[in-house]
Amino acid sequence: MSASASTVALSIVIPVYNEELNLPTLFTRLYPVLDQLGRRYEIVFTNDGSHDRSIELLKAQHAARPDVTRVIDFNANYGQHMAIMAAFERVRGDVIVTLDADLQNPPEEIPKLLEMIDAGYDYVGGYRLNRQDSFFRTYASKLINFVREKTTSIEMTDQGCMLRAYRRPVIDAIVRSGAINTFIPALAYSFAGKPGEVGVKHEERHAGVSNYSFYQLIRLNFDLITGFSLAPLQIFTMFAGACSAGSLLLVLVLAYRRVVLGAEAEGIFTLFGILFFLLSVAMVGIGLIGEYVGRTYNVVRARQRYHVKEMFETTS
Ligand code: UDP
Ligand code: MG
Repeated sequence: MSASASTVALSIVIPVYNEELNLPTLFTRLYPVLDQLGRRYEIVFTNDGSHDRSIELLKAQHAARPDVTRVIDFNANYGQHMAIMAAFERVRGDVIVTLDADLQNPPEEIPKLLEMIDAGYDYVGGYRLNRQDSFFRTYASKLINFVREKTTSIEMTDQGCMLRAYRRPVIDAIVRSGAINTFIPALAYSFAGKPGEVGVKHEERHAGVSNYSFYQLIRLNFDLITGFSLAPLQIFTMFAGACSAGSLLLVLVLAYRRVVLGAEAEGIFTLFGILFFLLSVAMVGIGLIGEYVGRTYNVVRARQRYHVKEMFETTS
């Protein structure tokens, strides 16, 4: 590490996937905010295999502000969390802030997070005030928040908000954990000593559409982000879930008919209904085991999680 490396106070980490329409605005809004902080900072962009001109824009920005801009260029698309992970492995700052490139997290809110860090928190999660996402996205994520709260010890108002600040030791712990299928905010929470939260503004996506499809969102929420070889298992689990719901409905209808109309065909259909239901429960179980076997497989084969094609940075 060079002498200058140890003096970086703040690292901003931004994953970029097909954001050519947003990057120019991001640059004009983000750099002034950081310049005004009076801290030595760096911005680490990860180009996550974009198909548009994102990498050209990032390279131009590196040329324009080589002192503070670093660009990691992936050879392919590995997903938002791997893009952040690659940056975490290379950041030099004492405090690290993650941010989306689509301006849904206004850069002007960064000082708010830093105030909390300065006040002694080692992990500050943003939660979105006046969330600007589709009705479906907002409610789906409320449901997932609820399930997560019930099943884990992670307390987070808004797990989907990526505007977050971390102290260095938390990031080092994340990097050391070598997590493969990971949800960074939750992982960070588990390593934090004094986690805090702060409300941040949320804006509509500046341009373009969300990079997440419905299917990807489900997968993300399964905590399974990469690895196409796991996809069949995941689809199987989802299919089994649908079967379960359908046959539960059947059981309820048959039970109702049994009570109101009496036994039909000596009650054989009731029996079938119950049988189908139990069968689909068993299928969900097999699917779930598949999920865990798949996760284990991913860890055991220990394949490199992402591949950096090129780095654009001035100092080393
Ligand atoms: N992103 C990424 N790789 C992907 C998908 C998304 O690096 O495969 C980045 C994207 O450029 C953005 C952030 O992750 O900076 C959040 O993505 P998006 O806005 O599509 O997600 P949403 O806000 O809809 O959750
Ligand atoms: Mg977004």
